[in-house]
Amino acid sequence: MNKMNNTDKTVYILGAGSSISHTNNKSPTIEDIFIFGKKIARSFDIYKQYSDRYKDLGKYIFDFFGLDMFTVYNKINVEDILTSITISIEKYPNPLVYKIRNDLLDLINFVLTNINESLTGDYYTFKNQLKKNDSIISFNWDLLLDNILGRLLIWIDNTDDKTNSLYHNMFFNRFAAEPEYYLGNMGNSPPEREINKGQSVYLKLHGSIDWQYCNKEMCRGKNKLFPVFLPKAKHYCSYCYALTQRLVIPPLLNKQFDKYPAIGALWNIAAKELQFAKRVVIWGYSLPKTDFYSDWIIRQARIGDIKELVIINPSVIRESRTGENINYPFVRKFYSIFRKIIEKEDCKLYTSHKDFIKKQDVFAKFPLLDKNNYLNLL
Ligand SMILES: [Zn+2]
Repeated sequence: MNKMNNTDKTVYILGAGSSISHTNNKSPTIEDIFIFGKKIARSFDIYKQYSDRYKDLGKYIFDFFGLDMFTVYNKINVEDILTSITISIEKYPNPLVYKIRNDLLDLINFVLTNINESLTGDYYTFKNQLKKNDSIISFNWDLLLDNILGRLLIWIDNTDDKTNSLYHNMFFNRFAAEPEYYLGNMGNSPPEREINKGQSVYLKLHGSIDWQYCNKEMCRGKNKLFPVFLPKAKHYCSYCYALTQRLVIPPLLNKQFDKYPAIGALWNIAAKELQFAKRVVIWGYSLPKTDFYSDWIIRQARIGDIKELVIINPSVIRESRTGENINYPFVRKFYSIFRKIIEKEDCKLYTSHKDFIKKQDVFAKFPLLDKNNYLNLL
């Protein structure tokens, strides 16, 4: 097999901000999923059904957070709620709290499958500039990028379309259970002695709304990741016929990742990919302070030969009385991960993906910014 060289591997790390930018603010942050849910329900004229459907979830959020999910003004962090419910299940498992968890996953699904697909958004230019051994690490649950990489072709009855897309090559063929079925690839591979540095992978480290798994202990389908065509529909395990579960997991419980099928492997591969990265591009990801595992995973790039860090985020700039200024606390959070490994001038800042494509960094965009000051203060 032709060994590609890895000298120019870029690893892209995507957070909610990339989908928000792709859709021109029509996709939610982790804090306004409930606001979107309410708006979508109203636009479909099903608000009454919506509030009945999520009554138990609303009560849980009110009881444990003192917040009313049916009031639009409240910003409620959906990851915090999902984390709390997951701990409740661990401590006091009972049918109601399982139902509440499923209700929340349903609601997330309801919102994320009703985002209007953009026909011109950033993900198209993002896809077109990918090089052959670049990799993508995403913390997003939505399907916007998956669809642009060719997700829907998987379910088309044409082998060429199925196997030609980036979605197939970077994710489906490597991590999904279906290739065993579709492609007759039934054998297990022996342990590898060397990691393929030239690989190009798409890793969704917090799961995805279209991923299902069977959680029945004795089932042959256990520990397999099943992407599905219709994320809104119920699915049943094809081995044991139990109802399958959604593979959407909260970031704060990363220590549980090994409990879920495939997720532990995705994290291991993400760490390796970062170790081979020459350049890391962090787009729309804000690295929450409590997300220790994500911090750890990005730090793996220190082991390798990283030369450049790129941050794409409107938050790299803040407005001050004297005009635009670098948002030092925000930028430092990322740069400090690579301190003494990459030069300050190789930490590049862009306020948008369009600027990144145009190579118009913040110093080109805002000529009044003082670059020397940046290099001194960072
Ligand atoms: Zn099963």
